Amino acid sequence: MKTLETQVVVIGGGATGTAVLRDLAMRGIQALLLERGNLASGTSGNFHGLLHSGARYAVKDPPAAEECIVENRILRQIAPQAIEDTGGFFVALTDADEAFLPRLVEGCQRVGIPVEVISGSEALREEPALSPQVRQAVVIPDGSVDGWTLCIGSVKAAKEYGAQAMLYTMVTEILRKGDRVIGVRAVDQTSGDEYLVRAEYVVNATGPWTEKTARLAGIEVPMALDYGTMVVLDSRPVRRAINRCRPPADGDIIVPVGTTIVLGTTSVPIQDPDDFCIQEWEIDLLLDECAQMVPIVEDMNIQRYYAAVRPLYKPPQTAGEEERREVSRAFYVLDHEQLNGIGGFITITGGKLTTCRLMAEKTVDLVCAKMGISVPCRTHLEPLPPA
Ligand SMILES: Cc1cc2nc3c(=O)[nH]c(=O)nc-3n(C[C@H](O)[C@H](O)[C@H](O)COP(=O)(O)OP(=O)(O)OC[C@H]3O[C@@H](n4cnc5c(N)ncnc54)[C@H](O)[C@@H]3O)c2cc1C
Repeated sequence: MKTLETQVVVIGGGATGTAVLRDLAMRGIQALLLERGNLASGTSGNFHGLLHSGARYAVKDPPAAEECIVENRILRQIAPQAIEDTGGFFVALTDADEAFLPRLVEGCQRVGIPVEVISGSEALREEPALSPQVRQAVVIPDGSVDGWTLCIGSVKAAKEYGAQAMLYTMVTEILRKGDRVIGVRAVDQTSGDEYLVRAEYVVNATGPWTEKTARLAGIEVPMALDYGTMVVLDSRPVRRAINRCRPPADGDIIVPVGTTIVLGTTSVPIQDPDDFCIQEWEIDLLLDECAQMVPIVEDMNIQRYYAAVRPLYKPPQTAGEEERREVSRAFYVLDHEQLNGIGGFITITGGKLTTCRLMAEKTVDLVCAKMGISVPCRTHLEPLPPA
């Protein structure tokens, strides 16, 4: 067994963990990231690809919406190589959609998302593949974002500041001395080599695996996991991200990614992030729903489909009967010293890929406060190196 030593261990190499690594390194904290697969091999390489404007959450979850629009603007500045400025429409096709439209517009305006309402004919002029049934559209600043480019860029930036990352290295134990976490044990999945890593702090940034990872430290973190499926079609009939003008539901977003469009998503409750399977009804539902917005979808070829698990945290006070789509998309930094009496261990979970930088900032603010470090965050100011 090899022994390593660092100030902070970050578990998880998705958008969140890589952003945490970069922020730690930029504040002069020695940090090591451990990822059981490759970078973005979890949700961050298998998500829908939307750089959220926040409009989707503006009515039901204003704090999450506000985080999205602020971070949407920052990511465009610091990671332009990962973003395509597609723009976006919310399209109203029915009476119910039109009734929802003023609520959407008002919700967006309340949290600072710039919107413009255009007529159906204007929308069709801009996007001729839209359904001729479109009555009105709301123009919003959506984009598409590449999770791989973002994660690789964050790790490259972190390494330039002296951080380290070990891929295909799975954390198998979280080591405790009494009521304090003092490091981790990890295994290289390719060579079988074992590592004991001593650290002052361990950050759990394992997305859908948050609960499993926390259990390694003897802590329960209640998650409300569900997976979502996406279908990739083999050409791009729309330039913009097309959203259905209604409360969030299955099959209501089409994201243009490169020369394809990605239809999504579904929402299926699961218990184990390593055990789920795409079902045929999901593909049918996505095609049916998205064809209502862009009818040519029915005649296009499926290139592939894939799925990922949402890392939704369910704080104890909201545990109850509410709908899964109502579980907040906001993020949570969990200080396990305060919550469970276990020092040296912090969990960052929930949120969106769009908000990963902010999630990292709040996490590292807490690490710094605990370590007595007063270096401010600068991740919103410096661009990422090209991936
Ligand atoms: C269907 C779906 C669609 C989505 N669409 C969007 C969207 O369009 N826009 C948007 O902004 N957000 C979207 N999201 C949300 C977004 O994708 C996630 O919030 C984000 O990717 C989570 O990143 P993460 O780093 O927290 O988790 P992950 O990317 O899952 O990273 C966690 C990492 O931890 C690693 N890991 C787990 N256990 C261990 C261990 N023991 N040791 C070492 N490593 C470990 C995993 O391998 C994984 O790489 C979507 C989510 C889903 C499920």
